Amino acid sequence: MTLRGTNQEFARPFNRRIVLESIRLHAPIKRADIARQVGLTVQTVSTIVRELEEQGYILSLRDEPNGRGLPPARLRINPEGGYAVGIHLTPLGLDAALVNLSGEVIESRHRDAPNATPDHAFELIGRLVAELTGLRPGGRILGVGMALPGPFGVESMSFVGPTTMAGWQDVALRERLADETGLPAFIETDMAASALGEQLYGLGTRFSDYYYLYFGVGLGGAMVHDGTVLRGAWGNAGEIGHIPAVPDGEPCPCGNRGCLERYLSLEALGRRQGGEAEWLPQVRPIFRNAVATIENLFDPQVVVLGGLAPLDLLEKLAATVQDLPNTVSARKDRTTPRIVVASSGPNSVLRGAAALAVTGVLSPRFGQMFETVAEPRHAAPREKGAAA
Ligand SMILES: [Zn+2]
Repeated sequence: MTLRGTNQEFARPFNRRIVLESIRLHAPIKRADIARQVGLTVQTVSTIVRELEEQGYILSLRDEPNGRGLPPARLRINPEGGYAVGIHLTPLGLDAALVNLSGEVIESRHRDAPNATPDHAFELIGRLVAELTGLRPGGRILGVGMALPGPFGVESMSFVGPTTMAGWQDVALRERLADETGLPAFIETDMAASALGEQLYGLGTRFSDYYYLYFGVGLGGAMVHDGTVLRGAWGNAGEIGHIPAVPDGEPCPCGNRGCLERYLSLEALGRRQGGEAEWLPQVRPIFRNAVATIENLFDPQVVVLGGLAPLDLLEKLAATVQDLPNTVSARKDRTTPRIVVASSGPNSVLRGAAALAVTGVLSPRFGQMFETVAEPRHAAPREKGAAA
């Protein structure tokens, strides 16, 4: 998986992001190596690098001269070159974090807000964003990204039940977020934001095709293909929580019975009297089948188990299915387990949400993912000379 630039002048904004992505992934890296990797001339890369350095997005490090001329500079992202705020809204409350350009959480805050109304939530968000951005006075704030439970725009599924946001239908999320914060605003499902966090800051450096299973209050997931989250026609692809898992099983607020999420989610665990000890063996066969379904559908390199659940719970869950059924993933040439626990940590959603706002600068692939209009392979003429 290598990003390629184009040597045509009108594609500068796109190339700029490709060069930044290459620096982020491979830092510290020399200009010539970037050029080789992304298929641009050294001259084009040098022009872009000079601009990025002037703008404070990257830093260059130079080794001590060794007597045979100046060694080439090696480049890396300037962590303090910009900040974004990530917000995660759940039926239980709000989390927010100030994140720097390297994806490091500078500070995070939590506010309890059970089943918050939009008015209440946006008021809290406005205050949290002001508090967090106030920590870096004079810092360049690129924007704010908010993640919330999906699916979006499916009336009978989106806003019913304990795992979703009741009373949030018909809310112009992006507009309200922008109005409340005065910043460029981005919205995404929590599962896709979390998969983005993992792609940028976790296992994404090792895998390019994997299914990210989001274990939260509900259950969701996203297939990451070639480093990009598959979103479907309406952004709801991978909404695995409502796959029928148990015939005539537990009724689900979506109107069906036996949905996977009714068994496999923090909400489901919370309903079990006996806690983890009783729940784990009970859901094991259901979880095994779910993994087999995912593998046969998507042929992933690996299934990544992540989300909001505590790490030790995810590890126990992964350990219950080490003897998975035969599927297309039961390959002899495997070098990794079929299931791994996410490595981007508990802040994956917040970092992913913040990255939504940074992607326009940093990552062309995720820029494609979150913009309604895909990144053109050849930029439209109106982008000529535009500063991205
Ligand atoms: Zn359901």
